Amino acid sequence: MELILEIPINPQYQDVMHWKPSLHGSFSTKLAWEITRDHKPPLAIFKNLWPPLVRPTISIFIWKVLHNWIPVDSRLKQKGIFLASKCVCCLRDEETIPHLFLHNKVSLEVWSFFASKFQLNILVMDNFSMILQAWKNNISNQPHIRDILPLLIMWNVWICRNAVIFEGAPFKANRIISGTLNYFHLLGKTNLIRASHWKGDKPVASHLKIPVPQQKISSRISIVKWIKPDRGWFKLNTDGASKGNPGIVGAGGIIRNHLGQTVLAFQEHLGLTSNTTAELKAIYRGIKLCIDSNIRKIWVETDANVALKLISSPSQGP
Ligand SMILES: [Zn+2]
Repeated sequence: MELILEIPINPQYQDVMHWKPSLHGSFSTKLAWEITRDHKPPLAIFKNLWPPLVRPTISIFIWKVLHNWIPVDSRLKQKGIFLASKCVCCLRDEETIPHLFLHNKVSLEVWSFFASKFQLNILVMDNFSMILQAWKNNISNQPHIRDILPLLIMWNVWICRNAVIFEGAPFKANRIISGTLNYFHLLGKTNLIRASHWKGDKPVASHLKIPVPQQKISSRISIVKWIKPDRGWFKLNTDGASKGNPGIVGAGGIIRNHLGQTVLAFQEHLGLTSNTTAELKAIYRGIKLCIDSNIRKIWVETDANVALKLISSPSQGP
């Protein structure tokens, strides 16, 4: 208020509406909220809830679980709806989100079933962050089956829990497991799933009899041919080869003129070293041979991408 009163008023000018934080000067509640709200960095746990292989219904459900927004008995009690709560599994403890999804006997059996299949050592799981972190794949940056599995387990626990309450079905680990596996079977029939989603875990898929599409091999054929250098120029082609890496290594090269005629050639045994060293040494020997033979106008051609990058990078090599 004091700040507002401090604003000097000039009666000669007419008042104009002006909202400084927006570019066009007009006020919007959205912008006002953005300015006043408490900005917190987004939590990583929420970023991983939306993989393309998971139905949005499931992602939204998990998002609600993490926000404590699903109607388990303990939550209904908080909302003022009092009922005699009993967990669908043990019929003894109160139904809370951690008890239903993580700590009851049946859910624990489901988690340990999948953990053993994927050879994960997860025994104590206090919260969902720990689970999602433990299951997070370290294999690739692409969406991976390990990232979506915990979401599917939680979803199927919920489906099974509802079947108990509304249909009188039993709360059994094998029902949750088969529901989860069924999702993978359905995914296998769509064109959404790729072999890369199972990268590193294909034996698990075959053990669980889940279909995994074959890795697509590119059938594109590109023609590679040797092109003569311009008139007056020479071309040096080099190659290195190794048996193992590191391994027994050899390097060689050929220098041809603009007519395609061989002028010089060399080969060398380099002993035990890496294949990149072989490629680099082949280029070095070739250039040195050209200089020694007074050939100065040369094109160098190699198939070694790593060697090329090393040579053209500004940093010094070893
Ligand atoms: Zn229970």
